[in-house]
Formats: sequence, structure tokens, C-alpha cells
Amino acid sequence: MLLLRNAVVFAPEPLGVQDLLLGGGKVLWLGRSLDALPAALAATTEVIDLEGRRLIPGLIDGHVHVTGGGGEAGFSTRVPPVPLTRFTTAGVTTVVGLLGTDDVARSTRDLVATVSALREEGLNAWAYTGGYHVPPTTLTGSVRADLVFIEALLGVGEVAISDHRSSQPTFDEILRLAADAHVAGLMTGKAGILHLHLGDGPRGLDLVRRALAESEIPARVFNPTHVNRRRGLFDEAIELARAGCTVDITAFPVEEGEDAYGAAEALQRYLASGAPPERVTISSDAGGCLPCFDADGRVCSMDVGSAGALLASMRELLGAGMALETALPAFTSNPARLLRLSDKGKIAVGADADLVVLDATGSADTVIIRGAVHVRGGRAVRRGTFES
Ligand SMILES: [Zn+2]
Repeated sequence: MLLLRNAVVFAPEPLGVQDLLLGGGKVLWLGRSLDALPAALAATTEVIDLEGRRLIPGLIDGHVHVTGGGGEAGFSTRVPPVPLTRFTTAGVTTVVGLLGTDDVARSTRDLVATVSALREEGLNAWAYTGGYHVPPTTLTGSVRADLVFIEALLGVGEVAISDHRSSQPTFDEILRLAADAHVAGLMTGKAGILHLHLGDGPRGLDLVRRALAESEIPARVFNPTHVNRRRGLFDEAIELARAGCTVDITAFPVEEGEDAYGAAEALQRYLASGAPPERVTISSDAGGCLPCFDADGRVCSMDVGSAGALLASMRELLGAGMALETALPAFTSNPARLLRLSDKGKIAVGADADLVVLDATGSADTVIIRGAVHVRGGRAVRRGTFES
């Protein structure tokens, strides 16, 4: 058991100074001040005095290349797997892994194994079946069977549209994937979503608009990501959020003068637009390759996404004057709702004890995952199996 004293709690809503008793991976009790514990309990309870530091729900990163992504400019550009502490030291307590451009040399089997390894190391981890291309790569031979029979798989993605690296999927192919995800979601209670990678192409979100207009599939099934990569695309995404989709902003680096919005600016614009505040999330694309292409489709430069981009975006939002409770849902309660992870993304009695203590600068001071301390004083106290 762990007793956190004098935490200034943002659940995400502000709850003021609280004490929290954690046990069995859950928040057991939360209140103004806990009187002395019975002697038998006190003997087995570690106490951490947070001295008024801010306590927030652990961040949920809904788009992570846990196996490493890339491979767009030769085999030497395949990014290695992301080790545990790259997430934990960044305040990320839950990840959703996925495959991207390379869904040939990489497989759903490897993805599920990598997610299972992260779970053994203490992280909350799920994944999507498929990858950029159609027909999608799967573990069992069908998207529906993958989602119904493999507990760790929550949806299908990231299926690429409006991108030169996509399979140029047809409208019917996109509808079929969304329907399979939706039906599997009904059967299992899982999220059952189609997570769509958006490229720079001028077709933008055409396919999704058409699907909402012409099919019976609920809007919530369509979950476009990278929507801030082009300003016109972002305006399209806001309209889809009004129609019931949850849209995902990527915290990638944006250069001055680029036709894109950084994650912080995108969230500010989204919230200012009056679109439903619960239908926007921010993910890191950690482990993914962030290539730039020339007019011939050749890679001219590349970078690798990092989970640290989430707290960096949050610091930028707070620096711009946004209240912590306004910024937090896009990183916590909104992805939990989309992913149907009902015990996550919030601080409440009975919720999972996935918690981050922020230091004065807004970095992760202490990180707790299902009641276990992973980071203390900004340093990892638990490491992945092969991290020295
Ligand atoms: Zn992508």
C-alpha cells in the first residue's frame, strides 16, 4: 500500500489538497486528510509526502510505435523498439501500440508480443491490429477475429488515407474495416474503432465525411489522427468532431512558417472553436519515424517521435495561460473514453492508480502505474528488462 499525502489533485477537475491511499493497483481512498492508519496497515504502507505538488492522472498515449516504426528509406531506417522508461519518465502510464508504413517486415504477432512485454514490465499497454495498408495485416486472418479473440487488440489502425504511402483504399474498403471494428466492439465491449492515419493529400477527410453521410456506422468508430499536419485538414477535423468523431492531434515538431499546427496551438484552436471538448485527444507518435518527402516521394530528412512530446505540449499550454484542468482531458480522460478504458484517465476512488506528480516546471517528478512507483524525483526506479 502507498499513502500519498498533500497532493494538489487534478482529476482532471481540480479537487484541492488531498491524501490518497493506494492498494491492489487502485485508488482505495481519497479525502482531505487521512487519520492514522491501524497499526497493522501502517506497518506495510509506504508514505510519500507530495508537499503540495500537482497530482494528475497518468497520460494515455493512443498512438505509439512500440515495436519501432520507420523503414521508409531503407532497412537501416527501421526504428528500434521503445524501452519502458522512455514512457514512464515522460508521465505516460498507458500506451496503444500500432504498425505504420512497415506492416510487412513487422507483424501483428510481433506487436502483440511487444505489448505483452511492456505489460510484464508494468506499463498498461494495448494495440491495434492492421497497419497502413489494406487488406490489413492481422494475427488470426481477420480484423474481426483479432478483436474478438485477442484481448490486447482494441481496434484497427493506423490505416492510411490521403497519403502516398497508403494502399489508396476505396470507400468500400474503409467501410468494411470500420464495420468489422464496430461489430467486434459490440461483441466484446472494446473500443472497436478505426484509427485513420491522415497524410498531406488534398482529399483530406473526404472518405470519412462520405461514410458518415452514406453508412449506418456510428461516427465514434472513425478516429482520424495527425489532423494538425495541415491547417485545412484541421478545419475539416473540427467539423467531424462536431459530427461525433474523436480526432487525434499529433505532438510532432512544427517548424516556423509550416502549414501545420503544433499540438499546443491545435488544442487551443480546437477548444476555441466550440467543438465538443471531450472529442479531442493528443498522442505522441513515439517510436515512429517522422520523415519529410521531396516531390519525387524520396525521404529528405527524418526524426523519431518521442513520448516526452506530450508533457512538453502540456507545458506549452500552461505557459500560454491555459488552466491545467482545461488542458488535461485531451491527454487523459478523453482517450480513456474513446478507448473504453473505464478505470483510467481520472483520479477517483476505484479507478486504477495510474498517477503522475508534476514538478514545478511541469515535468514528471513521480510516476505510479497501478500502484507501483516507476519514477521518483524524475529518475526511473524500475527499468525494462534490457535497460541498463
Ligand atoms: Zn501515422
